Amino acid sequence: MVPSNQIVEAAGFYLQRLCIEIDNRSTGSEGNRAATDFFARTVSGFGFETESPQFDCIDWSQNGARLSVKGVPFEVFASPYSLGCQVTAPMVVVSTAEELTSAEISEKVVLLRGEIAREQLMPKNFPFYNPDHHRFIIQLLEAKTPKAIVAATSRDVVMVGSQYPFPLFEDGDFIIPSIYMTEEEGNKLAAHAGEQLQLEIQAERIPAVGCNVIARKGARQDRRVVFFAHIDARMGTPGANDNASGVSVLLLLAELLADYSGSLGVELVAMNGEDYFSNPGEQRYLAENAGRFDEIVLGVNLDDVAYHKGKVAYSLYGCPDDLVGLIQDVFTKYPDLIEGQAWYQGDHGLFIMNGTPSLAITSELLEELMGDFTHTPKDSPEIVDTNKLVTVALSLRDIVLRLDRQSG
Ligand SMILES: [Zn+2]
Repeated sequence: MVPSNQIVEAAGFYLQRLCIEIDNRSTGSEGNRAATDFFARTVSGFGFETESPQFDCIDWSQNGARLSVKGVPFEVFASPYSLGCQVTAPMVVVSTAEELTSAEISEKVVLLRGEIAREQLMPKNFPFYNPDHHRFIIQLLEAKTPKAIVAATSRDVVMVGSQYPFPLFEDGDFIIPSIYMTEEEGNKLAAHAGEQLQLEIQAERIPAVGCNVIARKGARQDRRVVFFAHIDARMGTPGANDNASGVSVLLLLAELLADYSGSLGVELVAMNGEDYFSNPGEQRYLAENAGRFDEIVLGVNLDDVAYHKGKVAYSLYGCPDDLVGLIQDVFTKYPDLIEGQAWYQGDHGLFIMNGTPSLAITSELLEELMGDFTHTPKDSPEIVDTNKLVTVALSLRDIVLRLDRQSG
């Protein structure tokens, strides 16, 4: 089946609107509010009832960071959400958690490099994934009260995509100002261990409010199918695949369901905060739906769904056999959709942790996409295939109609 030009054009319009006209969708920013407003208005136009539950968050403004030793400057970047500071202090170099345990860093600046700076450290209040060795390092640092932290990092494709160097800290709750630099700059800086360095970070945390948008249709909400797509984007990136693609599919699906009047409830959720340090939208959704996840017959998460290379990949989690059969039966009619590998980083984790049958949709070549584009300015509409957005929306409409018929 060939989708009409009109719907492909609508897909292109949504992408353009979300990524170009609104140039920053990071949670707490003005663009983020413009994006949630746009989503709410658009789905209302297709007859959905909407609700925009709010949460507190922060916006962050910065004017860079400067670091020098004896007047020699180094290339550095302020960690996202860092507090500002102006510091002159001696530097201590630390490469492992063991070294950190015994290091004297109070009132000094600590350079973290090598093993201790290999993985991006999870924000201290991050509720979903927070390994003990990350918590241990954060607690030690806070207990030892250094004046600031310099992190020399390499690559961590799993957690931060293609960004190099990556910020070791990205945490609006962490109280020690920090910057980051490349491994090479870190090697040069380490040669100055014990010397005075001068560091200035110009940055500010600005209290803000964000919201999820929840759009509903269908007679029953106690038996419903839920679709998630996170609407926020990484600060300073257009976030076309990540995740204007998923949001655009929700908007197309809303239009395809404009005349829907079935019994099965349909809930479209523009989730706000997947790429924000504390996932406030996810936490809000979890709290609102505590004890009610068994009403959800199927939870669907759309993230990075339409990379222009490769196919669209789906994966299933905890679905009973008849549901697996129904979904596969629909998807086989769309040659652009294939069953792909399991992945656990996305918002469908909320369904999985609540035992809700779930379906995740992403791009087949996710690894390539994450390695080359994700969380960089290169994640722009040119690498999104609008035909695939339409295909995914059509297939999801079919799933809704089949599930509704089944519920009779
Ligand atoms: Zn994403």
